[in-house]
Amino acid sequence: MANVSFSKVEKNFGKFKVIHGISFDIADGEFVVLVGPSGCGKSTLLRMLAGLEPISGGEISIGERVINDVDSKDRDIAMVFQSYALYPHMTVRDNMGFSLKLRKADQALTAQRVNNAARILNLDALLERYPRELSGGQRQRVAMGRAIVRDPKVFLFDEPLSNLDAKLRVAMRAEIKALHQRLKTTTVYVTHDQIEAMTMADRIVVMHDGIVEQIGTPLELFDRPGNLFVAQFIGSPAMNVLPGTLRVQGGRTYVEAQGHEWPAAPQSRGQEGQAVQYGFRPTDVALATDGQGIPAKVVVVEPTGAETELLLRVGEADIVVVLHGRTEVQPDDTVHLRVSPAKTHVFDTAGGGRLD
Ligand code: ATP
Repeated sequence: MANVSFSKVEKNFGKFKVIHGISFDIADGEFVVLVGPSGCGKSTLLRMLAGLEPISGGEISIGERVINDVDSKDRDIAMVFQSYALYPHMTVRDNMGFSLKLRKADQALTAQRVNNAARILNLDALLERYPRELSGGQRQRVAMGRAIVRDPKVFLFDEPLSNLDAKLRVAMRAEIKALHQRLKTTTVYVTHDQIEAMTMADRIVVMHDGIVEQIGTPLELFDRPGNLFVAQFIGSPAMNVLPGTLRVQGGRTYVEAQGHEWPAAPQSRGQEGQAVQYGFRPTDVALATDGQGIPAKVVVVEPTGAETELLLRVGEADIVVVLHGRTEVQPDDTVHLRVSPAKTHVFDTAGGGRLD
């Protein structure tokens, strides 16, 4: 079994603590994405798992084995870096087979594994080329091929798509996902890009300032972010968030913000008069046609073909709404917003926690 377990893992660089006691488990065969803003510690956590960085406290296990003191090369992992780290003077074939050669593996076995990986990654025709003769996407595939050839227990990816242009990133994203579906190797993937996390992960670990903010499937995090940080990090365009006051009156729950009453679901942890942050996603708003709802001034209309993005203003607040299809709405029009209570998110202003 190649499950991975982090237990109270800590990391200090000198006096500076960057990982504050992180615990979670990754199941055998799972694709887990560590995501968070720059500096949150995701690469450091991955590098500790890879054996590239000593662990200051706690334990990391692969399978049943605690690997804190196991040499990187004996951890049975393979890592793919942003920089690809290919050897420029070696052909694709030699790059891919190099780790097995170092281990003095049988030549026939090496050839077989390299051919097999090349077939999976569509590199057959490129095996005799040098890295300088390849495109960025092809180099990235060679870097993945090198990892596959080792048949590791765990694949580690550190921002592997950052150097590719937007279109190629989308294509490689799908390739890596298909590869995982085929090989079912436990995978830990680091990115700062929440769309990569959403599209690739079985489960996402959202990190911030050296702690885990929330762990869940992409849709769990999208539908029920546990706190304001996750709410604003996951989802694109980002969730609309308005500061307001929670009102619970006559059995009705709503939030007062920008001079209007915004519908909300009952908040079991919220109290009348509490300062809150009221959130709803741009895709969870409808424009009312009967003049009922919260009035908003249209500032910008951005059609993207399949959708139309509206930038609106309510009081002092900017609000983004994404409509399916097209709209007749023009700048300076007044529209009326309808938000369904079940699609709203209310967070405590003081602690940031979700209140329902
Ligand atoms: P990015 O997306 O920018 O790579 P990250 O989430 O991967 O960010 P890390 O690279 O893990 O973040 O860094 C976490 C924190 O540790 C940062 O504050 C960083 O400055 C600090 N750090 C990383 N490596 C070292 C080091 N060798 N010495 C001192 N501090 C370090």
